[in-house]
Amino acid sequence: MNDGGLVIDVRPMKSVRVDPDARTVTAGAGLTCGEFDRATQQHGLALTGGRVSTTGLAGFTLGGGSGWLERAFGFACDSLLSVDLVTASGEQVTASATENPELFWALHGGGGNFGVATSFTFGLHRLGPRVHAGLMLWPGDAADEVSRGFRELALAAPNEETGAIVYLTVPDEPGMPPEMVGKMAVAVVYLYAGDAAEGAEHTKPYRALKPAADFLEDIDYADFQCSLDDPPGKYNYWSADYHDDLSDDALDVIVDSARNLPGPSSQQLIARWGGAVGGPAATATPLMNRNANWVTHPFGLGETPQGGQEAKAWVKGSARTSRRMRPAACG
Ligand SMILES: Cc1cc2nc3c(=O)[nH]c(=O)nc-3n(C[C@H](O)[C@H](O)[C@H](O)COP(=O)(O)OP(=O)(O)OC[C@H]3O[C@@H](n4cnc5c(N)ncnc54)[C@H](O)[C@@H]3O)c2cc1C
Repeated sequence: MNDGGLVIDVRPMKSVRVDPDARTVTAGAGLTCGEFDRATQQHGLALTGGRVSTTGLAGFTLGGGSGWLERAFGFACDSLLSVDLVTASGEQVTASATENPELFWALHGGGGNFGVATSFTFGLHRLGPRVHAGLMLWPGDAADEVSRGFRELALAAPNEETGAIVYLTVPDEPGMPPEMVGKMAVAVVYLYAGDAAEGAEHTKPYRALKPAADFLEDIDYADFQCSLDDPPGKYNYWSADYHDDLSDDALDVIVDSARNLPGPSSQQLIARWGGAVGGPAATATPLMNRNANWVTHPFGLGETPQGGQEAKAWVKGSARTSRRMRPAACG
């Protein structure tokens, strides 16, 4: 929303045309990431999508588009072939590598203020429908060991392997170890962007860290993409930092901060970058810090307005501001 401006609701624009032979899709600006995945996965094709399936494809792509497939396929914007949009003067234009190329560059993460995008054409990547993905869970007292183990495994991982470590409070849901419910725990979210059986092989070193619960499985990619959808109605305050390196000291700061998560829904996440996020693509878009190795995300979620304020205070004062994090932080 904005003050004194115009908001155009593009949600009815849900057209989607997949060309399986050319491996391209032209998608209306009103699709959610989940709707987009369902259409492209019918052909075993995919684009890096948001980690929450209800996110709009348009704002997601125009902001860059970071998701679980990014180490293999880059950000969503990296797969753009063209964008149709209406400029502020009411002109209908197409932006691509050959038509309005400067505008096309700006649409690779420069945000939403260059016009109203009405449709996006992407090149797609072969994936699934089945992939090996899910999460593993350890009790909070294993956080130091698992954090260090994850760091080493993720640094050595092939580009098909993507994952994050998440510090959270175990919800009272089926399959959760009863003794861990309501307590701080550490999870590794994992997805292999390739053959599912190959992916299962690659999880062995993570499984050697002996998770207390193991929810990794062969699953449809489109189902995995909505498996972490947040419940609506929380009071959110989120942030992110980029890091070249995560020393033991930096991990200790993050784990200490995660031991004080405000409320049952807040989380602290560390995602591994590298692969197709960095490299030549890193300087080809307006996005900064693409060569960072890690992204840390404190997610403050409150159940009430007061809880929301506490979550915000935790994000602002959490690991982000510690002097001990600074040597490794790059933005
Ligand atoms: C629960 C949740 C999870 C998220 N997870 C991720 C994630 O994993 N990775 C990631 O990269 N981001 C993530 N985000 C951030 C998300 O990508 C942005 O909030 C994005 O703007 C959402 O897109 P939208 O179309 O729903 O935007 P809206 O909220 O509808 O719009 C936000 C802004 O996007 C621009 N915009 C939207 N549509 C258009 C259009 N058609 N033309 C021009 N400008 C437009 C406008 O500037 C608008 O003000 C997440 C956000 C949420 C709420």
